Amino acid sequence: MDSSSRSSVIIIGAGISGISAAKVLAENGVDDVVILEASDRIGGRIRKEDFGGVSVELGAGWIQGVGGKKSNPVWELACKSGIRTCFSDYSNARYNIYDQSGKIFPSGLAAASYNKAVDSAIQELKNQEAKLRGLPTEPESPSAPKTPIELAIDFILHDFEMAEVEPISTYTDFGEKEFLVADARGYESLLHQMAETFLFSSEGIIVDNRLKLNKVVRELRHSRNGVTVKTEDGCVYEANYVILSVSVGVLQSDLISFHPTLPKWKTEAIMKCDVIVYTKIFLKFPYKFWPCGPGTEFFMYAHDKRGYYTFWQHMENAYPGSNILVVTLTNEESKRVEAQSEEETMKEAMGVLRDMFGVDIPNPTHILVPRWWNNRFQRGSYSNYPIITTKQDFTDIKAPIGPIFFTGEHTSERFNGYVHGGYLSGIDTGKALLEEIKREEERKKESQTFLLEPLLALTGSLTLTQKKVMGLHKWDIARQLLISGKLAIK
Ligand SMILES: Cc1cc2nc3c(=O)[nH]c(=O)nc-3n(C[C@H](O)[C@H](O)[C@H](O)COP(=O)(O)OP(=O)(O)OC[C@H]3O[C@@H](n4cnc5c(N)ncnc54)[C@H](O)[C@@H]3O)c2cc1C
Repeated sequence: MDSSSRSSVIIIGAGISGISAAKVLAENGVDDVVILEASDRIGGRIRKEDFGGVSVELGAGWIQGVGGKKSNPVWELACKSGIRTCFSDYSNARYNIYDQSGKIFPSGLAAASYNKAVDSAIQELKNQEAKLRGLPTEPESPSAPKTPIELAIDFILHDFEMAEVEPISTYTDFGEKEFLVADARGYESLLHQMAETFLFSSEGIIVDNRLKLNKVVRELRHSRNGVTVKTEDGCVYEANYVILSVSVGVLQSDLISFHPTLPKWKTEAIMKCDVIVYTKIFLKFPYKFWPCGPGTEFFMYAHDKRGYYTFWQHMENAYPGSNILVVTLTNEESKRVEAQSEEETMKEAMGVLRDMFGVDIPNPTHILVPRWWNNRFQRGSYSNYPIITTKQDFTDIKAPIGPIFFTGEHTSERFNGYVHGGYLSGIDTGKALLEEIKREEERKKESQTFLLEPLLALTGSLTLTQKKVMGLHKWDIARQLLISGKLAIK
């Protein structure tokens, strides 16, 4: 058992929200903090891996929301660190849609299908809203997607959150542009740089023992006096406060138990939030067989099954000559693929690529299939709130329970689902906890004065000023009075 002494704050999770919360605390003098991270690294859902000679991002890949009136804080971090990024131009994706015989749909048909899909998506949103409000709904929109091309476009509209369908704060606040991180140091280097401002490091490696890796938190016992945290390896940590930054998928699972249990309103807020599974499958080939050049980076495959290996990207813009393709799956398709072997997934992906580019193309030399759904420290990729979500739902999901403060991208009312949502939520939670620490100190001072006043009145002593009294324990006062002869012991 780890016999670590009690710290002021324990932060559970070293993703961007946990690290940004810890930084706020450290900058404000609260540095007896312990960070417990279940995995063997910091970064959480920001994670790079070396693949086929380059660094690919298994989790967050883009800085989304750039070029608007307000500056995206994660873009600012990226600019400061000089990380390499590439602008992603999706505008041509809808004109690069392949059918199952390898022909690209004519642009007129693609544009008409696109407009129809936007109408259908708007109708669908109205229906969902009406349903939630108990109003009558249209049984099925006349323009519901049916053909492979309509299904493909519907998939990118919904599963890639195209701003045309509903206004998304990220784009309205920070701008419409998106930049892909393409740097050997990875997106996660932004987090490392942030962590190194308050944790000791040596030659780029964090060596500070306030950061504890491979510590899977399983139990939180809380009371007015603080929190006791138990980890899977039997260690026990105590603190006045906890900041819990695990994903909403983890909160919905039974990985962490709370004693006493969380109130019903809290669990309801947690269960109300949906979790999106988003999987980028990387395939490395011996040579390129797909079109390259302007307007070709993103392309689609139209199949009768919605979301079946629909959305493709070549990595020639990010890493010229890398010969890597990425295909993105979501939700049920992600879960299905996570459950099967890499060989089966490769076979399916190659079937699709051979439909698009012919039977003679080579097999990949490498494949990489991340498993965010089956990772018990993630249980999905990011939060997605139902269409009707109230301010109260966000107030509830982030409201502290006694000494436990909740943070993470899912607690961000405007930017949930994004890296900047995680970053800003950590800052907000750090500040909220600082306020609470200040309030608690005030309460303690008040109660000490309240306890001491009768004692001082009894002795008639005015030698101790109010200020001095504040910082002393009641027994210290008695000692001082005794020393000065103003209090006698019979
Ligand atoms: C595939 C994918 C693609 C994405 N694409 C983008 C994108 O392009 N742009 C964008 O802005 N966002 C994207 N996101 C979302 C973005 O990555 C997240 O919103 C953000 O990183 C979340 O940060 P966080 O600190 O809230 O949570 P996390 O990063 O999940 O941090 C929580 C930490 O808690 C740890 N933990 C969990 N359980 C325990 C436990 N019991 N004990 C101790 N530690 C525990 C986890 O290991 C993790 O390190 C993507 C995410 C995924 C998965």
